[in-house]
Amino acid sequence: MTSHQTPPNPETAPRPKIKKLEVMVAEVIRETPDTATLVLFTGNDRLDYKPGHFLTIDPHQFPALERFIDYFEETKGKKEPARAYSLSSAPHEQYLAITVKEERYIPQVTQYPPLLSPLMVWRIQPGTRMVVTGFGGPYVLPDDIGDRTDHLVHICAGSGVVPNMSILKHALTTEPKLRHTVVYGNKTRRDVIFRRELDELTNRHPDRLEVVYALSRETKAAGYGENYHSGRVDVDLVRKHIRDPSAVEVFACGPAVSKWDRLAAKEAEQTPKPRFMETVLEALDTLGVDKNRIHRESYG
Ligand SMILES: Cc1cc2nc3c(=O)[nH]c(=O)nc-3n(C[C@H](O)[C@H](O)[C@H](O)COP(=O)(O)OP(=O)(O)OC[C@H]3O[C@@H](n4cnc5c(N)ncnc54)[C@H](O)[C@@H]3O)c2cc1C
Repeated sequence: MTSHQTPPNPETAPRPKIKKLEVMVAEVIRETPDTATLVLFTGNDRLDYKPGHFLTIDPHQFPALERFIDYFEETKGKKEPARAYSLSSAPHEQYLAITVKEERYIPQVTQYPPLLSPLMVWRIQPGTRMVVTGFGGPYVLPDDIGDRTDHLVHICAGSGVVPNMSILKHALTTEPKLRHTVVYGNKTRRDVIFRRELDELTNRHPDRLEVVYALSRETKAAGYGENYHSGRVDVDLVRKHIRDPSAVEVFACGPAVSKWDRLAAKEAEQTPKPRFMETVLEALDTLGVDKNRIHRESYG
């Protein structure tokens, strides 16, 4: 099982055949107002990865970040680590792709401005070369998934949909008996990453895929269609889509309470406010889904 308790550390997570690859950005696709997919051309390198794997990108390679890195490393007192990005492409596809959502600096809330994601979303142009390291991570489909279940439930928020998109595309192609439900939370419809692609996949596989959108800042979401709901992903929405809690396999990905949230709460002598992942895990526990059937990855 690949269920794990803490967000995977890109430095220590299992690394099957990890290697550095020099890639060239072939295309930049604007997915939402703050998210872009970078399609990466890898030359003749064999791409040995599983759906759900991530690669890492070292920010030190970008001259545009040099000053920020010097400042951050001095202020934070440690080297800026490589950032992890899940692959949004699936192994059967020709190109490698990552999909990055820009982190925001929120005065009084976040301590530092984000380093790498704004560059990835706004400054990278087709033709840019960069070095990526990959591929790894435990958030992948078990090889025996077909024996374990016939219903995969993907519960995602924001950029948490990225590894699930890879898993979904792959499983729709290679596991014909597997049915999928995607429960996907965002603030507004404009923030839904891969909306067109998800809707196309649903049209192509009407018996095997259902996608449900939860929009936390839209009060009349049902106006977009019967698969749209106003509000956050909560226990009632999850219950509606898990008919047999003893038989599903769940892949949940999205923000969780981060170590920075925990530190800030400790300083304020408070308990950190639950985020998406904490809410989802509590809902799954309430519904009686066995922990061994829950795979999770969090970015917070
Ligand atoms: C396995 C995995 C897969 C991921 N996949 C994706 C993906 O597919 N798409 C995607 O968009 N993102 C993904 N992420 C998140 C990604 O790795 C980055 O964390 C994200 O892009 C933000 O990086 P950044 O350099 O822009 O921000 P950072 O510079 O890392 O800052 C992020 C936040 O951390 C705070 N922070 C940083 N250092 C400190 C400190 N010393 N003290 C207090 N606060 C601090 C900052 O204030 C800010 O709020 C993934 C993460 C993991 C672990």
